[in-house]
Amino acid sequence: MKDFSYQALPMRVVFGAGSIKKLSEEVAALGLKRVLVLSTPFQEELARDVSRQLGDASAGVHAEAEMHVPIESAHRARAAAKAADADGYVAVGGGSTTGLGKAIALEFGAPIIAVPTTYAGSEMTPIWGLTADGEKKTGRDPKVLPTSVIYDPDLTLTLPVGMSVTSGFNAIAHAVEALYAPDASPIISQMAEEGTRAMISALPLIAGNPGHPEARSDALYGAWLCGATLGATTMSLHHKLCHILGGTFNLPHAETHAVVLPYALHYNAPFAPEAIAALQRATGAGDPAGYIRRLSVELGAPASLRSLGLGDSDVETVVAMATRNQYANPRPLTEEGIRGLVTAALNGDDLT
Ligand code: NAD
Repeated sequence: MKDFSYQALPMRVVFGAGSIKKLSEEVAALGLKRVLVLSTPFQEELARDVSRQLGDASAGVHAEAEMHVPIESAHRARAAAKAADADGYVAVGGGSTTGLGKAIALEFGAPIIAVPTTYAGSEMTPIWGLTADGEKKTGRDPKVLPTSVIYDPDLTLTLPVGMSVTSGFNAIAHAVEALYAPDASPIISQMAEEGTRAMISALPLIAGNPGHPEARSDALYGAWLCGATLGATTMSLHHKLCHILGGTFNLPHAETHAVVLPYALHYNAPFAPEAIAALQRATGAGDPAGYIRRLSVELGAPASLRSLGLGDSDVETVVAMATRNQYANPRPLTEEGIRGLVTAALNGDDLT
């Protein structure tokens, strides 16, 4: 056993089909009287249902969440929270909505109750992100960690198969990097392995039948575990590359994770034997990177960064940004190595 330190994050989780009905209890248990319900414009109807369910404890709905939390969107949400005299925030949606709740909490510090409807995992982390002048900045602050999380698989039944698959691989990416993180610990590695196993087993069933109740439940359980590993460890090359591709080239978040993950894992595999052993157990495959690549393409995830909008002329910028600073990664970061990885992901090359 290697030496480790582990900081548990304070968090209450309520899990189960139909558990959105327990939201009022959660709000009351936190002593909140006026919560602002947040969503994207696309999920406004759901947010309004939730707000109605809360009755007098709702201070209204702010349905303006956007991907990567543009700073103007954060300003508008903070103004809405102030105008509504909100004492807490209920974020109903994916990572973008949770991110907007975090942007408000970063300024005002009030509790967030997260109701995740994708597998992104932001609800389990103290990580905030804000985008200004085309650059996304992220940071960690305990005050943005949701106080309570309601995981209701029924709310994920509407998540289209394509997004379910890419969001599922987004979750697995957290677990993969947690397994070889510099601050990995035995409990987090167990969660990463189990989260990967649950997600890998659920995704093919969801692709076959998006209304499969057990598979939806397993996938959300996997998303919880994978999100918790993201919150507890320091991410490496894979997340760095996705951050650059999303922040600078505006590539879509979950799809980018789905494409890059097998290439980043393939690059790191020879330098991360314990992580590979855990992923072999979780996937039942001898070569987890090849397996993840085949499964994601088979389930309809995009096959290349080119199909997401990256071009040949962008490769050198990605390489320069990814190697500018050295950061924790199992395999040393060389320009040649990263160029090979990004070019292969650009073209959707077979892993050899
Ligand atoms: P998203 O939140 O942007 O959602 C994408 C779209 O899907 C939105 O229109 C949303 O309303 C819709 N949607 C969500 N759930 C749905 C459902 N069940 N049915 C139908 N439609 C649904 O996408 P995401 O991938 O969840 O989140 C991406 C964002 O989250 C990125 O900005 C990323 O950086 C951030 N993120 C942050 C962290 C963190 O720890 N801070 C972790 C993961 C992701």
